[in-house]
Amino acid sequence: VTRAHLDRIGTEDDALGAYLHVDREGALRRAGEVDATGTAGTGLAGVPVALKDVFVTEGVPTTSGSRILEGWRPPYDATAARRLKDAGTVLLGKTNMDEFAMGSSTENSAYRPTRNPWDHDRVPGGSSGGSSAAVAGRLAPFALGTDTGGSIRQPAALTGLVGHKPTYGSVSRYGLIAFSSSLDQAGPMARTVLDAALVHEAIGGHDPCDSTSIDSPVPTLVEAARRGAGGDLSGLRVGVVRELGGEGSREGYEQGVLDRFAEAVALLEAAGVEVREVSCPSFGLALPAYYLIAPSEASSNLARFEGMRFGIRVGDDGSRDVDDVMALTREQGFGAEVKRRIILGTYALSAGYYDAYYGQAQKVRTLINRDFGAAFADVDVLVSPTSPTVAWPIGARVDDPLAMYAADLCTLPASLAGVPAISVPCGLSEELPVGLQVMAPALADDRCYRVAAAVE
Ligand code: GLN
Repeated sequence: VTRAHLDRIGTEDDALGAYLHVDREGALRRAGEVDATGTAGTGLAGVPVALKDVFVTEGVPTTSGSRILEGWRPPYDATAARRLKDAGTVLLGKTNMDEFAMGSSTENSAYRPTRNPWDHDRVPGGSSGGSSAAVAGRLAPFALGTDTGGSIRQPAALTGLVGHKPTYGSVSRYGLIAFSSSLDQAGPMARTVLDAALVHEAIGGHDPCDSTSIDSPVPTLVEAARRGAGGDLSGLRVGVVRELGGEGSREGYEQGVLDRFAEAVALLEAAGVEVREVSCPSFGLALPAYYLIAPSEASSNLARFEGMRFGIRVGDDGSRDVDDVMALTREQGFGAEVKRRIILGTYALSAGYYDAYYGQAQKVRTLINRDFGAAFADVDVLVSPTSPTVAWPIGARVDDPLAMYAADLCTLPASLAGVPAISVPCGLSEELPVGLQVMAPALADDRCYRVAAAVE
């Protein structure tokens, strides 16, 4: 199985650009080891996997899509990577991504853009676009991505995959190169709900190495997916979010996306669930709040890349002092979007503006949390389209950051509130995939899998 995937990477990946690094020798050696020790146990033994390049992997190059980390080989494994290894999986390689996970199309990678397997002239979504292209293009059976504001769910939707952002704190962030620490969460990208559940169970659970890790048992997700696939949605109440493609908020949404969404809701109704419209008035403020909070945290997190400890160092020829070497390294090592975020975030956190920007954004975050709380008092899950549009042509939004940011309209509320959300394919529009998003209360990830499996 490993060899078949490596062969396919060999013939397809020049065109797709899904991988930044393929560990051919390591994968074959590891597959041999797994064969020798037997494949009993987890259900994942011997299954190949691709990891977004934001996961650090022992001895395997890790760049987070940035030049500044070119050539770096981490000395340890991220917990999620380690747990997959322990389950017997075989690492094929590291997948392309927007630099430091900042983007919605994978065009912000410092190395190359990734193409959508459904149409090579279109983006695969982002920032986990290398993972989505790898799995949708059959260059890996499943992959891990990370989701800060939608980066698992949106690329899954744009490539016809299942992608789940777990409850914040339920999958370890140890060994994830940090973008926005209060939002980052790792999760599975797979071709079926059941596959995603199997992977999620393998990577989830408490980790003492992550101070925000929740110490509670991993929910039984495979079981939930099986129930949903069997059509058992009894007793569930579903809310359609008025502000996310519901009545009165359809500007910017493609008609084909709204049609597929309506059909998915009708399918749930036919399966016997009670559907009602729910209003979450603060969701409309998620975009501006996110684009203050995420850059603020990024400006702080990215201070560690100064050319002294990891990756490249520029201008260290004995003629300059340390400040100049750091400045030169950052100037040449970071791309335009990363610099934009660092400048935005530094400004938003600066003393005179803290209350006006960062402080306000945190208050909006509280309002969004309250909207979720009120909604989940009435319904068990909330649904919306995952993305307002299908995959767009490569290049169409690169010069327009606001149009790029608008791709996250539907995914940001769940990120800011830390609640779980899944994207599941719900049909095609103009021959391109459309995703349904299912959001649930914190720690009720099983509901996402149950409802998604019924729609699949
Ligand atoms: N597109 C969003 C951003 O650029 C989300 C990215 C993510 O989830 N990593 O910040």
